[in-house]
Amino acid sequence: MAGVVQVLLPLALDEAYSYSVPENLDINIGDFVLVPLGTREIVGVVWSDKSTRISARIRDIIERIDLPPLTAIQRKFINWIADYYLSPPGMVLRGGMRAKGIFEPPRQRLAYRLTGKQPDRITPQRQRLLNEARDLPAMTRSELAGVTGVSVGVINGLVKLGVLEAVELPPFAPFARPDPAGNLVVLSKSQAKAAKTLRQSISANSFSVTLIDGVTGSGKTEVYFEAMAAAIAKGRQVLLLLPEIALTSTFINRVEQRFAAPPAEWHSELRPRERERVWRGVASGQAQIVVGARSALFLPWQKLGLIIVDEEHEPAFKQADGVAYHARDMSVVYGLLGKFPVILASATPSLESLVNVDNGKYAHVTLKNRHGNAELPDISLIDMRTNPPSSGSWLSDPLADAVTQTLEDGNQALLFLNRRGYAPLTLCRTCGHRFHCAHCSSWLVEHRFRNQLICHHCGHSEPVPQICPECESEGSLVPCGPGIERLAEEAALRFPDAAIAILSSDIARGKSLHQMITDIARGKYDLIIGTQLVAKGHHFPNLTLAGIIDADLALETTDPRAGERTWQLLAQVSGRAGRGDKPGKALVQTYMPEHPLLQALAAGDHDGFLAHEKQIRLAAGLPPYGQLAGIIISGTDQNQAQSFAMALVGRIPKSADISVLGPAPAPLSQIRGRYRFRFLVKCSRQSNIQAFISQWLADVTPKGSLRLSVDIDPYNFL
Ligand code: ADP
Ligand code: ZN
Ligand code: ZN
Repeated sequence: MAGVVQVLLPLALDEAYSYSVPENLDINIGDFVLVPLGTREIVGVVWSDKSTRISARIRDIIERIDLPPLTAIQRKFINWIADYYLSPPGMVLRGGMRAKGIFEPPRQRLAYRLTGKQPDRITPQRQRLLNEARDLPAMTRSELAGVTGVSVGVINGLVKLGVLEAVELPPFAPFARPDPAGNLVVLSKSQAKAAKTLRQSISANSFSVTLIDGVTGSGKTEVYFEAMAAAIAKGRQVLLLLPEIALTSTFINRVEQRFAAPPAEWHSELRPRERERVWRGVASGQAQIVVGARSALFLPWQKLGLIIVDEEHEPAFKQADGVAYHARDMSVVYGLLGKFPVILASATPSLESLVNVDNGKYAHVTLKNRHGNAELPDISLIDMRTNPPSSGSWLSDPLADAVTQTLEDGNQALLFLNRRGYAPLTLCRTCGHRFHCAHCSSWLVEHRFRNQLICHHCGHSEPVPQICPECESEGSLVPCGPGIERLAEEAALRFPDAAIAILSSDIARGKSLHQMITDIARGKYDLIIGTQLVAKGHHFPNLTLAGIIDADLALETTDPRAGERTWQLLAQVSGRAGRGDKPGKALVQTYMPEHPLLQALAAGDHDGFLAHEKQIRLAAGLPPYGQLAGIIISGTDQNQAQSFAMALVGRIPKSADISVLGPAPAPLSQIRGRYRFRFLVKCSRQSNIQAFISQWLADVTPKGSLRLSVDIDPYNFL
């Protein structure tokens, strides 16, 4: 290709930039190329050859990077997402280039290892590196820093002293080929029927979406493994998306077991070199199965032939900032563009997916029973008005007795409370002072393990003070309400002989969390106390009791999906009980047992709940029947942010079918020192919400500290 081409750069630009192709370069659409931009050099992708603008100022492409080009489908996918979410396509592309090493100049691509020489002077940091690096393979400086926990500066110093030496990076370990027939289980009749439907969708070689709607423990995983086997047998790549990093390592083991080869893993906590290995493996087609978080959608797939979205109802699939895409929805789009099947799995499917089943857009496969002899747990409500716990305690007598009984029987119990930390609010008993975050309109949450007050919105933390900062009373601070750490404290007093595991994202992460989950499954702990982390997919065969501390928590929000979300959470947590041979039960503490949602939960009436929920959404024109978009205006100056928002009102385009609510102060009116106002755009599914918003905001440029962000299909209403 010669002449001028458009190169998309991984930056927040409105369009691709023109570059000319020097005669000595062989450049094609989709190629990764190095181009000059101002005084920098940057890697982008040749996006099209549709440029006519020939001017003297167009600069040359520097070189072609030796990587497989992005396919036409990937480029279409990136454009599609950019159009739908009203985001710069360069920012979508950037999501797919998060494997830094690949795009770095070669001089940074050296590995370092110990030479055996001792440094002249020993510092604690140096000693640490010497100890840690002894058993490590050669790795890049930044990796070595990450693994050993010393700074790159220390490493550079040791390189200068000849304590570390540079060597070529070792080649990447190859990916083992998964075997479709690896280790098979014998499927039950209903599982076999479901698997057959899925295999047919694979052999159809066309786009389809199938929802596997199977109760917790019904063996959905075993069933979709059959679809994966069929896809890899055809030489296609498979992506298995999970909502939470915490789940991936457990899943990796299961996939490895089934296909007799470890799959590739992709999420934000991967070490840089492993990211690079997976990125290259996917680009070359060698990595056939990837188990990953939502960003795995943007890997450089060569022959993707199946996406499975497990726990498809999870809101965690929605990206919170930047390009605010929903990974489940975009999986469906990818399947449509790439003409391959997509499988969504859940025990508590989203209303979105169920309505698509109703409309005939998605196929529906159901598994109504648990695998083997396991039964679904009995769910009972505990009325907290008639069973009040004593002050400073959160367990009612019936729940405490049930835990005691469970432990006496040698089984495991689970207590669920979706609140991290020790107490959601700390106040002064003398003067009533409450601890607020200085940057957000929210309370600071006490974390007793770390002895800190932490803001859950911006991460700000401060030590728990000895005296009240307001009235200077000593020892006057009191925690209010329960967090998971406080619940654990009560449990330790009540059940002194129980081995207690706390499962919460700020107590255990990555490997240690994986270890804990494995240990729980093996029965090393008797009592598990967890946040929503425990609601997701774990299989603990000895767990027979699930206790929900506060069923009312999630119902009290402004989120239109609050009811659905509460249902899902409670059903999933309850569903952890009784997955093995022993029957399980769930006890749900609530102050409003008459609430229709809780009544339906206790009666096991999923259909009844859904009918009710659909009716509410339909009547209010809410998703999945209507469309929403959030527009958030923020600024460090409250008046300025408000005037900016008010000025936008006059620009709202006239529309018969689209309405705009607001601006109103967002429920969290301040985050990270920024004051926030929000508009909510509401319309039917047929309306073109993107065109409306584009027209509205076309000439709007926020100045100074002001920011404007658009969230299509929002899941966060704070
Ligand atoms: P789900 O994903 O629906 O919650 P899983 O696939 O995790 O259920 O299955 C629950 C448990 O039952 C797992 O330990 C799984 O290995 C086991 N299981 C499911 N189906 C079978 C089968 N056909 N043969 C043997 N074990 C099975
Ligand atoms: Zn005080
Ligand atoms: Zn804060």
